[in-house]
Amino acid sequence: MKKSLKVDPVKCVACRLCELACVFGREKVYNPKMARIKVHMVGIPELPAPVFTRLCDTCGGNPRCVAICPVNAITYEEDNPRPDQKTIPDHEAVVHSWLSQVMPPKPGNAGTEQ
Ligand code: SF4
Ligand code: SF4
Repeated sequence: MKKSLKVDPVKCVACRLCELACVFGREKVYNPKMARIKVHMVGIPELPAPVFTRLCDTCGGNPRCVAICPVNAITYEEDNPRPDQKTIPDHEAVVHSWLSQVMPPKPGNAGTEQ
């Protein structure tokens, strides 16, 4: 079965080792700007949200970022057979998932849209 990368932003500790492993493995330089994974900081207080860029090719099936992540925030797993689940999470989906886990709805606003 096909495998894909998945991120659990709640586990991420923002060490950015994934960015360094990605760019050094490919370019042999430590320049995180060239990495194919970006650890964005979102919210107040800021918390990390790792996101893969469209250039990520899973390192040909042996992802360096997965191997180096110290807290298993990134995994490379068999695809969920659900057709509505994306192969590589986009930025908006990761941030939305993160927000829904760390910011419960305000009292009185549950289930309502503003
Ligand atoms: S995903 Fe893992 S390696 Fe990357 S910043 Fe988060 S904890 Fe560090
Ligand atoms: S799978 Fe490889 S190319 Fe993709 S972000 Fe991780 S280290 Fe970079």
